[in-house]
Amino acid sequence: MSRIDLHLHTTHSDGSLPPAEVLTLAHKAGITALAITDHDITNGIPEAMKIGADLGIEVIPGIEISSQWEGGELHILGYFLDWQDPALNRHLAGLRASRHRRNPLMVRKLNELGLELTYEEVRALAGTESVGRPHIARLLLEKGYVRSAKEAFDRYLGNGKAAYVPRELPEPAEAIGWIRAAKGVPVLAHPTWVRLDETSLLTLCETLKAAGLMGIEVHYSTHKRAQTEEYLNIAKRLGLLVTGGSDFHGLTKPDIQVGVGRGGLKVSSKLLEPLRAAAS
Ligand code: AMP
Ligand code: ZN
Ligand code: FE
Ligand code: FE
Repeated sequence: MSRIDLHLHTTHSDGSLPPAEVLTLAHKAGITALAITDHDITNGIPEAMKIGADLGIEVIPGIEISSQWEGGELHILGYFLDWQDPALNRHLAGLRASRHRRNPLMVRKLNELGLELTYEEVRALAGTESVGRPHIARLLLEKGYVRSAKEAFDRYLGNGKAAYVPRELPEPAEAIGWIRAAKGVPVLAHPTWVRLDETSLLTLCETLKAAGLMGIEVHYSTHKRAQTEEYLNIAKRLGLLVTGGSDFHGLTKPDIQVGVGRGGLKVSSKLLEPLRAAAS
């Protein structure tokens, strides 16, 4: 079975490796096709496509957009989209601007807790316009305030923790609509994150499908076998496409590897053609 990985982050958002290095790891893992799904930015896609052509790996243009849902977040992936679409890129620029409003507020809270850092340092470390909490976590790690990114989230940056500030987020239907308008296929990312029982998740997916959702990320690094089966069931019942990926980030999620997640992830290349066919 040839394998793919449809959920990867690079230095263009909060991953710690540039596209070229992510592609090299994918090549070593025997991956035949992958999607770059950076948060709120498409800048990594051309570089990845170029390296992919050299390595014989198909690179699918992708995106990941966080949306608001019951005080928490619901992440929407987009595949095979026209990543140069002007309207899409205007929306993404708006999301990146909201990050620059929110991040300094979190830095200020960290300062008030006695940690010395500036948003300029965060931006320099990030080296991209899509700046997120993982960048702040990495700076705290570099400065020795925490011993791992996980500790940075557990103590300071996680939802509801001491330095947490919510971000302005679009509604799920808006994120789905932006992806559809750019001819992409919108997919609910890592359904385990929404922490719903099967019936409630089914209802949520029905609502999202009515808003234009076309798929569900059934295969994911941290999904347990029973969860994978549950999400597969939901996909079958609602006629949603099945996707899968590792959500590789490099340093901020050191237990997750390209293509294999925590070791047990297997995403079949058979999932690719239905996804491609659905894009329009
Ligand atoms: P932001 O988009 O700036 O709100 O940051 C959210 C991102 O931080 C998510 O997409 C994850 O990649 C990452 N993240 C969230 N919680 C954790 C955690 N507990 N440990 C490591 N990374 C996390
Ligand atoms: Zn991320
Ligand atoms: Fe996500
Ligand atoms: Fe992700």
